Amino acid sequence: MHDRLLWPEGKRKAFTLSYDDGVTQDIRFVELLNKYGIKGTFNLNSGLLGQPGMIRIGKKPASHNKIHPEEVKAVYAGHEIASHGLYHTTICQTDSARCLHEILTCRKELEGLVSHPITGYAYAFGAYDDTVLDALKSCGVTYARTIKATHSFDIPENFLIWDPTCHHDDEMLPKLTEDFLNGASLFPMLKLFYVWGHCYEFDQNDNWDHMEDFLKKMSGHETIWYATNFEIQNYVSAYRQLVFSVDGRFVRNPTCVSVWVGAIGSDTVTEIKPGCVTTLPEPSSL
Ligand SMILES: [Zn+2]
Repeated sequence: MHDRLLWPEGKRKAFTLSYDDGVTQDIRFVELLNKYGIKGTFNLNSGLLGQPGMIRIGKKPASHNKIHPEEVKAVYAGHEIASHGLYHTTICQTDSARCLHEILTCRKELEGLVSHPITGYAYAFGAYDDTVLDALKSCGVTYARTIKATHSFDIPENFLIWDPTCHHDDEMLPKLTEDFLNGASLFPMLKLFYVWGHCYEFDQNDNWDHMEDFLKKMSGHETIWYATNFEIQNYVSAYRQLVFSVDGRFVRNPTCVSVWVGAIGSDTVTEIKPGCVTTLPEPSSL
């Protein structure tokens, strides 16, 4: 059936990045992303913005100075800002009120800086439990990133437990990059490559050049959708809201974004426009 999710314009690959803590090294990283036409999501702790710091774990010490609140909007222009908790505390195994305060206050304060709703989140230390998940839902958060590498290009079933493909220093990154760019595309027919990290790590490990090489390799492909985390979650959410007829030949798009669908083993692409009912092509056979 021609009812399978495709990325916008019928693309079959998407690439997204997610970087935590809102450190001043983000400025250099955003410049790199802009140079290569790649989009990122930056997860900030509103209660720590503007504070100085050093981080002494890893190969060598690196500054952990946070972006000043008044700079947030300009520094991250063209990219996405999401929450990382008010004070970067571990909220696992704490009570609901503290979870809600850490999540909701961060969201509210960041929204005040950028003047639009923020529904993304990245778990501080990657940690969550049922109380945290309930609090996220209560706070209107629609997606939350963990730090558990999938080493796959799968789309998450539950966006509140969004496991990334890998960290940028993962030893499998070169192989995954090769698979993503040049591997067979039939199964899975849709790929999502999701890399995360912290920009201070490029100072700790002296590997800015290594990251730039990776970004360069990933950039400029017409077959790839370069998107923020929000754009991906929002798009997949629209697909999941499509209403199909019983025989799968007609589909209504009740959302406000176009959704593209196709079939395994076929290059035929159908755009389902917002608010429209669309007739899909006859089923194809492999
Ligand atoms: Zn963090």
